[in-house]
Amino acid sequence: MRVEYHIDRDDRIVAVNDDWTTFAAANSGHALVGDAVLGQSIWDHVSDPSTASIYQRMYQRVRDESRTTTFTFRCDAPGERRLFRMQLTPGDEGGVITEVREVTVEPRAPIRALDATCERGEAMTRMCAWCHAIADADGSWLELEDAVRDLEVFHGATPPFVTHTVCPTCRAALEGEIGQLDAP
Ligand SMILES: [Zn+2]
Repeated sequence: MRVEYHIDRDDRIVAVNDDWTTFAAANSGHALVGDAVLGQSIWDHVSDPSTASIYQRMYQRVRDESRTTTFTFRCDAPGERRLFRMQLTPGDEGGVITEVREVTVEPRAPIRALDATCERGEAMTRMCAWCHAIADADGSWLELEDAVRDLEVFHGATPPFVTHTVCPTCRAALEGEIGQLDAP
């Protein structure tokens, strides 16, 4: 898999490759198929505000400094542990080219909390959007698979609501890549 998409200087999607369409069709409930997304703002596809703000900073850095930015992130499916690498490179006229490749993909027992279509209970949990670590009640961070095994919030009849944030480890790594971030 090598997903590639280009945005213009106004953050509009101007090109996507075939792997984008394949990946989107396999991983989301609605079709983001090829031409349908062209002309749309990239921000229509990023729902979490803290993630959006980090991407804005990355794009700014790529554009202002003509600099390539690379980072890894988790992008699990319910039954797959997936580590991806994203690379942002300057495109023409203020555009940015994004490339996403698989680093590792391992099958594992499905985690219902990652299934976007699953019904939720009343419990809530916070997950790092970048590494999928879960914050426990004391504010310490557990790896997703450990959290699902050990934390009560995952043991109910329905999985908890998951809100996305940035864990301290990823915050430090991202700040190393793009500079100081706003407080969460
Ligand atoms: Zn993290």
